[in-house]
Amino acid sequence: MAEFKISRQEIISLCRLCLAKDLASIDIFETGSETRQLFTKIVACLPVQIMTDDSLPKKICEVCNSKVDDFYQFWTSTAKNQKQLNDWLQIATTDSIKTDTTQIKVEADDTRQGEEYDDYDDGD
Ligand SMILES: [Zn+2]
Repeated sequence: MAEFKISRQEIISLCRLCLAKDLASIDIFETGSETRQLFTKIVACLPVQIMTDDSLPKKICEVCNSKVDDFYQFWTSTAKNQKQLNDWLQIATTDSIKTDTTQIKVEADDTRQGEEYDDYDDGD
């Protein structure tokens, strides 16, 4: 059984999410003009706990960055769609009752009016 050796420095240089070596270039806690909100996205979508003061890598690679972006986009879209479905359900219930009643009324009124006008014309 081969002995596995790794230094703390080596660990720190790995991608926090996929452990890729020498590819981690994006700071999880990066705060710049272009805010990636990486930390928020990772915490929301992945079972990974990250603290500013833990001893684990604070960077991720480009591949993981785009995956996290995709995950977060999917996460937010499912949350939005859930709300949309509930909104539609409320509209759908109200609509089906309204539409049925209106259609029956309009059809009945049209028939009656037509007959009445015909009667008046015949009488004169
Ligand atoms: Zn990675």
